[in-house]
Amino acid sequence: MLHILKTRDELGLFLKEQRMRHRSVGLVTTMGALHKGHLSLIARSKEENEFTLCSIFVNPTQFNDPADLERYPRPIERDVEALCTAGCDALFLPEVSEMYQPEEEKQGVWHLDIGPLEEILEGAFRPGHYQGVTQVGHKFFKLIKPDRAYFGQKDFQQFLVISRMVHLLEMPVELICCPTLREPDGLAMSSRNIHLSPAGRKEATLLSKALFLIKDIAPSMHVPGHTAGETKMLPKESILSPEDARLRALDLLATSSMIRVEYLEIADASDLRSVKGWEDASSVIALAAILVGQTRLIDNVFIKQW
Ligand code: AMP
Repeated sequence: MLHILKTRDELGLFLKEQRMRHRSVGLVTTMGALHKGHLSLIARSKEENEFTLCSIFVNPTQFNDPADLERYPRPIERDVEALCTAGCDALFLPEVSEMYQPEEEKQGVWHLDIGPLEEILEGAFRPGHYQGVTQVGHKFFKLIKPDRAYFGQKDFQQFLVISRMVHLLEMPVELICCPTLREPDGLAMSSRNIHLSPAGRKEATLLSKALFLIKDIAPSMHVPGHTAGETKMLPKESILSPEDARLRALDLLATSSMIRVEYLEIADASDLRSVKGWEDASSVIALAAILVGQTRLIDNVFIKQW
């Protein structure tokens, strides 16, 4: 049975009961319009915790564009059904006024030093976004005190930002990054995909294709067990640099007149700083954000991962 909790008090009472029964709590924070990607986080939390709580909250302070906030989908009845089917134990569904004092809703009231992550990639294109993310993340973690919290790799920069917040504020929670779920044609599942026109939906597959192209181009020397052998077998001149691979991926995206690229970078997965050589970091990730018509999509693919 899914318990729906709308206020801090209801949530507090409910969690107290779980704690008295010594049940570990897994948290999945979402903005709703749930899809299989969200549900995979719930499934993982159910495997690893005795109690799983999902939150649905369209957080106004992380939207830098009021029109984007306005049109964010909110199919709450369908979401409740999906959570029941998934066997989620409780849903925290607060109103904005339950989470924020009126003066807190303005950008700039909250600030946490998250370092360069705030200014690069998503941060550069969505000013204030990550301050909103940490502001609400901090509130949820303080209220819920989960043992574990589950995030999708699709929002990898967000995962790094939350990790930094947890580190800085010494919050006792384990963070788990789960794989991105994709449609059969490779498009990362997202609540925003419903905004794509039929033609845009077709073109949107180029995003994951471009990122996987980089993975194909990158020398496979990172494959454990094949390290030295494979590198030696590749003639050095045939190995493209990360910048060449990036340009090939951009060429692929440029084949669609519907697509505008905001960024496409190949970076060190620990801090998202761009790499010049494939060996510059032990984990390398390719990340991109594009606009397909009016719809903004992001995605990323690990190129090598130790
Ligand atoms: P959102 O509702 O978009 O804020 O996402 C809530 C959580 O679901 C975040 O941790 C996302 O990274 C995660 N998520 C979103 N899309 C996917 C996906 N396709 N696969 C796995 N996790 C996802």
